[in-house]
Amino acid sequence: MRLFKPSLYELSIFDIDLDALKERGIKGFIFDVDNTIVPYDTPKPDKKIKDWFKKLEKMGFVSYIASNNNKGRVEHFAAELGIGFLPKAKKPLTKNLKKICADMGISPKETAMVGDQLFTDMLGGNMAGMFTVLIEQISPVEGKFIKFKRIFERLILPHKKRVKGIIC
Ligand SMILES: [Mg+2]
Repeated sequence: MRLFKPSLYELSIFDIDLDALKERGIKGFIFDVDNTIVPYDTPKPDKKIKDWFKKLEKMGFVSYIASNNNKGRVEHFAAELGIGFLPKAKKPLTKNLKKICADMGISPKETAMVGDQLFTDMLGGNMAGMFTVLIEQISPVEGKFIKFKRIFERLILPHKKRVKGIIC
């Protein structure tokens, strides 16, 4: 069960304590997009998101997007942020996640995987040896299979056990 659980839980990406992660030795981030940064039907990041990614860069973090969604969705979104991206990332398989770390020039231990799903983002990040940050899903609108998986997510990590800003 440990492999499904995040290192840290936050309500949104904006709540992540970047200074604290820097102190822990985190040098870069791999982000999921759908329901982590924006809802599924939002094609572009808004100014608030763009500014936040600029802040990450200024703080010296490298960022990358790894989504199981298709290229059309991910390429466009990452281009707006000016960061690297991998569509059809096959999370939770770790092969691509480790490749991304190598691409960023940092180790998995120095990388934080940020996402909204336990069975893809958290499992993949944990298996790869990363620090994992679970973000509360932005919108209830999502595919049937993901909705089905949410039932099991709640069994593994009930909402009452999710405490913002606390290492789980
Ligand atoms: Mg997602």
